[in-house]
Amino acid sequence: MPDATFTPWLEQARALHRDMLTVDTHCDTPLLLQLKGWDLGKHHPGRTLLGGDMDLVRMKEGGLSAAFFAVFTAQGPRTAGGYANARRQADELLDALDTAFQKHPDLCERALSPEDARRLHERGKRAIFLGMENGYPLGLDLSQLDIYYHRGIRYLTLCHALDNDICAACTFLTDAAMTSRVSADTGLTTFGAQVVKRMNELGMMVDLSHTSAKTVEDVLRLTDVPVIASHSGARAMSDHPRNLTDDQLRAIAASGGVVQALFVPGFLNPDAYDPEGEQVAETLSSKKKAHYSVHPIGSDPAVDAAFEAEYRDMMAKYPPPPATVKDVVDHIDHIAKVAGIDHVGIGSDFDGGGWLADCKDVSEIPNLTAELLRRGYSETDIRKIWSGNLLRVFDEVIAKAIH
Ligand SMILES: [Zn+2]
Repeated sequence: MPDATFTPWLEQARALHRDMLTVDTHCDTPLLLQLKGWDLGKHHPGRTLLGGDMDLVRMKEGGLSAAFFAVFTAQGPRTAGGYANARRQADELLDALDTAFQKHPDLCERALSPEDARRLHERGKRAIFLGMENGYPLGLDLSQLDIYYHRGIRYLTLCHALDNDICAACTFLTDAAMTSRVSADTGLTTFGAQVVKRMNELGMMVDLSHTSAKTVEDVLRLTDVPVIASHSGARAMSDHPRNLTDDQLRAIAASGGVVQALFVPGFLNPDAYDPEGEQVAETLSSKKKAHYSVHPIGSDPAVDAAFEAEYRDMMAKYPPPPATVKDVVDHIDHIAKVAGIDHVGIGSDFDGGGWLADCKDVSEIPNLTAELLRRGYSETDIRKIWSGNLLRVFDEVIAKAIH
């Protein structure tokens, strides 16, 4: 927890968050919508299994104006059956999001452009953008991209933890852990090149988080507009394959793009990462999903309490690697130094592994801003980091779209 010397910075940060437009470019909160009875418009306690890291009430509390909610699918077999399954999962998430937006028109709206975010911020409503994490649901059908665009998707993270039909990933996934890729890096595929071109035409941002070194190079050679990394760190600060090298940071900046720093302890502090804990977390998450896809949260308080107890035990036995807002700001400092202050932002990965000892959920994001203030970042720079840079890229991508 922040000590007393931190208090003046925190007060200044809170005041800034009452006024400043803020965008978090990556969170997996839609996964919580798959739990029966979980309500985006209700306040949930932080650092619990069934509460998650983000809801509309805590967004307002922390001063987060806008967020990109990820429509995520895990990579599976590259077969007709696999594609159909991924499409079904993506459709379910998109339907659940539509239902949540319809249920809370007073609290939020689906946002499609920077203009929407600015308008909603003025009105005190949360702006929810949609991004798709992993192009797996496209299969090999480019027309699916248009379908997702028309459902509101405004960025596509080309792949997730494994290669897909679009490109090579920066990692390889085993049962135990996410490791560096083991096979040759094949970069962007022919189909992937068509996807990137069509994204440029549609005005959909290309997201390079999770992609391999050669994919990053191939995309930057091909794209007509700036690209983003919606949730990535700096490799020079922590040596994990999910983080970007200095050359990659410079190349993304040279495209005019932006790198959004993440809050994932295993990427911020890979030395302390425990794959066994990850396995236990996966198992508990699957059990939770199976139970609450049938029984609503709250229908049996004893069962809910048992789940929470299991979660607390797991966190005690396998605590996440120590990571704080200082670690995130170390990455922001480095990206700003190497790529420039106009090319860095924030993509927490809340509800997808984002977890800081002193920023347990979205209600505590002013702690991060306080650390930026403490290190001497100006209000102008902080506004760039919290939304200005990303919205500049987004505006440019839309301006150059030809539909
Ligand atoms: Zn991710």
